[in-house]
Formats: sequence, C-alpha cells, structure tokens
Amino acid sequence: MTSKPAAAAEATVYGYPRQGRGRELKKAIEGFWKGRVTADALRETAAGLRRTNWRQLADAGVREVPTGDFSYYDHVLDTSVMVGAIPARHREAVAADALGGYFAMARGTQDVAPLEMTKWFDTNYHYLVPELGPDTVFAADPAKQVAELTEALALGHTGRPVLVGPVTYLLLAKPAPGVAADFEPLTLLDRLLPVYAEVLADLRAAGAEWVQLDEPALVQDRTPAELSAAARAYRDLGGLTDRPKLLVASYFDRLGDALPVLAKAPVDGLAIDFTESAAANLADLAAAGGLPGKRLVAGVVNGRNIWINDYEKSLATLGTLLGLAGRVDVAASCSLLHVPLDAAAERDIDPQVARWLAFAQQKTEEIVTLARGLGQGTGAIAAELAANRADLASRAGSALTRDPAVRARTAAVTDADGRRSLPYTERTAAQRAHLGLPLLPTTTIGSFPQTTELRTARADLRAGRIDTAGYDERIRGEIREVLAFQEKAGIDVLVHGEPERNDMVQYFAEQLVGYLATQHGWVQSYGTRYVRPPILAGDISRPEPMTVGWTTYAQSLTERPVKGMLTGPVTMLAWSFVRDDQPLGDTARQVALALRDEVLDLEAAGTSVIQVDEPALRETLPLRAADHAGYLDWATESFRLTTAGVRPETQIHTHMCYAEFGDIVQAIDDLDADVISLEAARSHMQVATELAAHGYPREAGPGVYDIHSPRVPSAEEAAALLRKGLTAIPAERLWVNPDCGLKTRGWPETRASLENLVAAARTVRAELAESS
Ligand code: GLN
Ligand code: ZN
Repeated sequence: MTSKPAAAAEATVYGYPRQGRGRELKKAIEGFWKGRVTADALRETAAGLRRTNWRQLADAGVREVPTGDFSYYDHVLDTSVMVGAIPARHREAVAADALGGYFAMARGTQDVAPLEMTKWFDTNYHYLVPELGPDTVFAADPAKQVAELTEALALGHTGRPVLVGPVTYLLLAKPAPGVAADFEPLTLLDRLLPVYAEVLADLRAAGAEWVQLDEPALVQDRTPAELSAAARAYRDLGGLTDRPKLLVASYFDRLGDALPVLAKAPVDGLAIDFTESAAANLADLAAAGGLPGKRLVAGVVNGRNIWINDYEKSLATLGTLLGLAGRVDVAASCSLLHVPLDAAAERDIDPQVARWLAFAQQKTEEIVTLARGLGQGTGAIAAELAANRADLASRAGSALTRDPAVRARTAAVTDADGRRSLPYTERTAAQRAHLGLPLLPTTTIGSFPQTTELRTARADLRAGRIDTAGYDERIRGEIREVLAFQEKAGIDVLVHGEPERNDMVQYFAEQLVGYLATQHGWVQSYGTRYVRPPILAGDISRPEPMTVGWTTYAQSLTERPVKGMLTGPVTMLAWSFVRDDQPLGDTARQVALALRDEVLDLEAAGTSVIQVDEPALRETLPLRAADHAGYLDWATESFRLTTAGVRPETQIHTHMCYAEFGDIVQAIDDLDADVISLEAARSHMQVATELAAHGYPREAGPGVYDIHSPRVPSAEEAAALLRKGLTAIPAERLWVNPDCGLKTRGWPETRASLENLVAAARTVRAELAESS
C-alpha cells in the first residue's frame, strides 16, 4: 500500500503524563505539604518536568507542544482558578496564598471542606468538581496558562495552550453548597464566554498561534439545548477578532449530534477520536461535509490504552480523512495523561511481549511515524511499517494471547452455566437453614485495617528480609486477630480481613496467567495518587487456587460462616489495561471462568458464603446510553458465569461502593446474587428505598456505617438507619453492614463502630420480636 503524500501532516499530542520518571512531582508536592519542600523548590521541580516533557516531545518530532496541561493537582481545578470560580469558603485562603489555597481547595483543611472529586468521564482519573451558582462571578486569571506558554516559547518550542473548553467546564460543574439542586451551571455560559475571550486574547498576546479547547463532554448524549449552547459558545469565541486559532478537541467517544455543530462553528480546527469510534465519526464527518479549509487532528493512536498501534489501519483511516479537511494532523485519541510514561523502563516484561506495548513515549513516536507516513508517503516509513507488522503478528500468534484450552472452554459456555440451579425464592430457605443466621444478620465488606505492620511485612518480603513462610505466618497472625475480634463483637458472617491483599485487582492479577505487572507503569488517579494498573495481555487462566488457603484457615478458627472474598470480572477489567484485540465481553468471559473455578474451589473447601465484589460495575457504563445495553449484557453475564455454579445453599454476595445506581438497577437485579451490600449511610438509606421501588426481590445490606470518615457512629444512629431500611426492605431480607471495606480505617474506630453496629442489630431484632 502506498498513499499519496499530504502536505505538512504534523504530529501532535493533547497532554502528557505530569509526574516524571521517578514520580518526582508526587514527591515534591507531598514534601511541600509536609513543609519539607519550599514553594520555590516545588515550582522548580515542576518547571523541570515540563522542560523534560517538551524536550522529549520535540526530540521525537512533535513541533507544536501542548502547554498548560501540566497541573499540581488537577486540570479542572486549574480551570476553576483560571475563570475565578473559587468557592466562597476558600476565597480567603486563596487570596492569602495562591498555592496553599489551591491545595486547600483540592484536599480541604481541618475546617474547610475540599471540592468534591469524581471520575473524569470513563477513565480512572478524578477531577475536582467546579461549584457554581446563580451568584457566581467569573473573572479571568490567565496567569498559569500564560506563564507556561511563555516558558515553552522561551525554550524555543512552539506551544499550543490546552484549556478545558467552556461548555465541558460548565457541564462538569455542580450547584455550589446552598444553591438549589436543580440549578444548571450551563445557564452561566454567557457570563463565562467573555472570560474565555480574555484568556484567549492574553494567550494570543503571549505568542500562541493556536489554542486547544477540550470539549469531551460533547461525546456524551446531549440535549438540543446543550448542543445549541455549544453552537453559541463557538460562534461567539470563533467570532472574536483578537484571538488565536482555535482547535476544539473531542475524545473518548463519537461526537454524534455535536459533530455537525462543531463542524459548522467558525473555529479553525477540530480534533476527533478515530480509535474505537472511528467508523461513526468518519461517517458523521463525511455527512457533515467534512472540514473544508480547516485543520483536522485525527486521534488514531489510542491515548488510554497501552498497546502498539496498527499502522496500516491508522494510515487507511488517515488516508480517508485527507479528502475531508484542509489539513490532517495525527494525534493520540486523548491526552497521554492516562497511560504510563515509558514502556522501555519495564525490564521484567519478556522483551518479545514488551514490543507490543506503547506508553506515552512510544505513542509519541507512533504519532510522529504516522504523520511522516501520511505526509511523505508510506515509503518513508517502510522499516517502521515492517516492524509494526511483525510485532502485531507476534502478538496475534503468541501462546500468551491464544491459549487453546482457554478458547475451547470459553467457546463451550452455555446459558445454563450462567444460571443458578434454583431461583432465589427456592434457594433462600436452603441458605437460611444451612447458615443458621438470625434476622438482620451482621457482616462486613471484607477488608479490615491495613496496618503498618502489614505493609512492613509486604515490604520485608519484597526486600528479602523475610521469606514466604515468615510472611505467611504474619498474615495468619493477623487473620487470627481479625477472627477473634469479630467473634467477640458478635458478628454473624465473618471475613478473614484480606490482610494478604495489596490491592483488590492486583492481588488476583498476579496469580492469573495472562496478566502482566509493570514496575513503573504509574498513572495519575487523582492529585498525588498514582496507580499501576496490571495489563490484561493474554488468555486468562488460573493455575491454582488464589484465596482458598487463607479462607479455609480463617474458617478453621471459628464455628460461624466465613465469607470467601473475590473481585468480580467487570472490576478486574475496569481497573486494568485490557487487551484491544478481542471484544471486552470475550475477555470478561475468560476472567469469569477463572473466577468460577475459584468460587467452586471455595465451596468445595467448605465456604458457604462467597462475595464477588463489583465496585466498578457502574463506572464502566459507556458514555452513550445507546451503548449501555451491550455493556450490561456482558457485564451481568460474566458475573453470573462467575457465581452461578454453586449449590442452592451456598450464598452469593456482591458489593458495590456507591449509591447512584438508578440507571443500572435492572442490571443489579440480573446479577441474581443472593445478597448485595451498597453504600447508604451518607444518603440515609436512600438506596433501600430505591431498591424497593424497583421491586428488588432479594436480600440487601444498605450500609449503616460510613467508612469514609474516622467518625464512630453510635449504636442508636445505626439502629435509626436500620429502622429506616426496614420501611423499604422486609426484615427477612435486610442485612446489617458498613458501607465498604475497612482497609483505610484504623483499628480503634473500626472496633467501636462494629460493636455499635452489632448492638444496633440486636436492638432492632428485639423490637421486631416484640412487635410480632
Ligand atoms: N472486599 C473489598 C474490601 O472490603 C471491597 C472493596 C471495594 O468495594 N472497593 O476492601
Ligand atoms: Zn466498596
């Protein structure tokens, strides 16, 4: 295949990992918080990291580098600062000390609550939610954007400032405390646009030729009113006379109805995601008449996964796009913030397999190569194309990605495998008889405090200071303590406390064939918190039991039932980098079968209650409603495949950490778990009411203890919540438990809170006995 060259196709990126190779940014910021690093030293570290990133991008062949994407904490918080939307409660602190006040908004102080944090679209990055109201007065504060652009220019780069666009900014906002809940921040658009105009003028004056305005909110389902707000925003900004060229960037999904809106707007360029939603965006772009005379930035390299690109496929897409715009540039589908920095740093991964991986640095090289291929013809990248073809073939033909045994087993799955042998109404009696539980049984969600001793034990094992036997003995000691406490406290269904788990996904990933671990694959989750998601690289199988030993050890210490504890297939996928060479549903089915083996081994070893956690079920919901059903199908199927093989008297629990499940309540029902525990303490049992309204037919444990705070709920408080729960869920189906696992809590408050929880259950049981 040779393609005709496109004049001057450029490579560009929308944003880059902020932390540095050794997570220098995390260390500097946390040092600053502790008073060990001065503000000047922190600023210097940050400037050094920006300098390194720009240098690396420029050396790779990116001419126009992003600026202003750097952040001490979060780019949405930076946008709130840029438009002057400082919550009233933080204004004094911000005025007194901009940097200190910034971190106060992000993290709160002893007396002042931080901004709320939530997930950035369907990624695992979290942003700080802007708080707005009818009284919000915006005021432009372009200092950070101007300074970072100036810095890049002084270093000899061409900088393209990257801003969160005004429509997305408002759509991500929520009513400030005290403002009516039905207040719509988007109504502030006319007030906000002049502020953006001022920032744009200042950036122009500082030397920006182009400015990028990120509008990922436009890939979600939007109402006609929201779309016309977007049209107005870009008509106004595009109509400004004193402005840089505007590139409106979309990513994470297809633009749909927003595409013609942006294509018609008087802006100079559009960035569109051509990875998973390539077909839809291509068709819509063609239908809108393309972008004649404008710049199209084509996101053909997946910016949120870690696999190498398929050059031929990307070049085919780029070739099609050439006819649709005045100029076509090449980019990743989104900011590279969502991938680790450098795959070459991974020394423990088989070199053959490492060739399949592309982190931010490798993706930059891919983008540059594709731009060269597009601009100069494929002959100019013949060697790269050949190597790419070979790497893709090695991946497709590898025993890691094609395990015949796994494939045969997955292909043989039938509907019956996903169905319990008896319906809930018939198995519940068997479970009650088998377990001998009281009314309103008490339990916990799984983890107990992860103490310093436990972390030390893990570090000692890693450093070789203790051997596996020594480590196991420490874990057993912890299990004995956790069991002894629960027995004494009078909890009905016990747990072993998960002391052996570093992380609920990583623990299983490390034991499953098909998963890879990285050493340096850090990705920002929020602020200075970075995670190292495992890589789900191949066909998944379970060489041996993963939890049975610890669970049976715990069971050997008590007469009461000990609950087995597993992470569900959806969450195993959601918190990993998943393979992109087969449908997610196929991958989920493989994980489910491996977990199913674990479930059945637990049951065979005498475990009568098994919990399969799915905290990620809701957050993995696709951005567009039209895609929900397809996702929920494989999500619920894989959960049922994991759990449905057990006998009727074995009780399956599941757990989810949130209260907003309105749009998935049917899916929760479809899981056919016997018991579900959910977060409910803060919303005063509202979930119980919602479950009841849906007619949820099985057992539920809406949390009566908010584990997100060290506060100890009194027995009376917990009892009041239980009584409230009973107005929605009958006593035979109501469980008593905390909102979530206790791993982040300390022992003193855990002890006191669980004792109060048991006392509350006893009080309410007595009331029920009296009234019957
Ligand atoms: N079983 C896990 C725990 O208790 C569940 C954690 C979660 O849902 N996030 O920690
Ligand atoms: Zn939870």
